[in-house]
Amino acid sequence: MDVKIIIFTDLDGTLLDHHTYSHHDADEALSQVNKRKASLVLCSSKTKEEIEVYRKRLSNRDPFILENGGAIYIPKECKDLAGKFDHEDSDYFTIIIGTEYGKLVDAFDKIKRRTGVNAKGINEFTLDEVVQLTSLQKEEAVLAMKREYTLPFVVPGGAEEGEAIQKEILLSGFNFTEGANFKYLMGANDKGKAVRILVDIFKRNYPEEDIITVGIGDSLNDLPMLEAVDRPFLVKKVSGDYDDRIRVKNLGYADGIGPVGWNKVVLRLFNKKGFV
Ligand SMILES: [Mg+2]
Repeated sequence: MDVKIIIFTDLDGTLLDHHTYSHHDADEALSQVNKRKASLVLCSSKTKEEIEVYRKRLSNRDPFILENGGAIYIPKECKDLAGKFDHEDSDYFTIIIGTEYGKLVDAFDKIKRRTGVNAKGINEFTLDEVVQLTSLQKEEAVLAMKREYTLPFVVPGGAEEGEAIQKEILLSGFNFTEGANFKYLMGANDKGKAVRILVDIFKRNYPEEDIITVGIGDSLNDLPMLEAVDRPFLVKKVSGDYDDRIRVKNLGYADGIGPVGWNKVVLRLFNKKGFV
């Protein structure tokens, strides 16, 4: 049986450097991914248009998962991956998992009123404020603000205020998660749910192949993705520590921050006898 490897990867702080958003430190492993014809599925809190920029930079042609599992995009050139889709345009088949952005904005207003906590959604940020918080270039920040399925927000107060908001989000029937720069209000989506749906599509369409799934992340929003793969790996955060909220069976710890750890883990996987 042939082995097909699918690598699901977070972007910010994992494949991309926390400050520069560069994948340079992982380039050696990325070229191995191409050489071995492994699939590389970008699975990020980023928006569709942000991820498209990185797909171009990486010459990536695989499906991708955006906004913390809000939707799965399957490029039309992946003709083998047939299935049931919610939407189709000239470039993609789409599976929608998340809740519409407008509903999230309304819900967040109510949650803020109920808790009395001073929290700020990305819809209330100016472009300059997003640039300052994320270190993104202006044109990238414009794309980051084009949300469809998640509402990123910050809580300027302390941990107690953050917990009050988190509790109220869950009580209101929504989901909460956290990435490098933002906390997130969202519907029933998470990265793991999207990974499972996409893996099922791969398995249905490649019945002759033994599919091995790898997941690489750095933050709390990656936990469901890491739970959904065969080989989960955590890279170090920019502080040099691992996120200790991530507890997953068989979790591998990459020895390096962000793309440095990514590079080591993927090269080691490919060098392992029997892996490919
Ligand atoms: Mg991250």
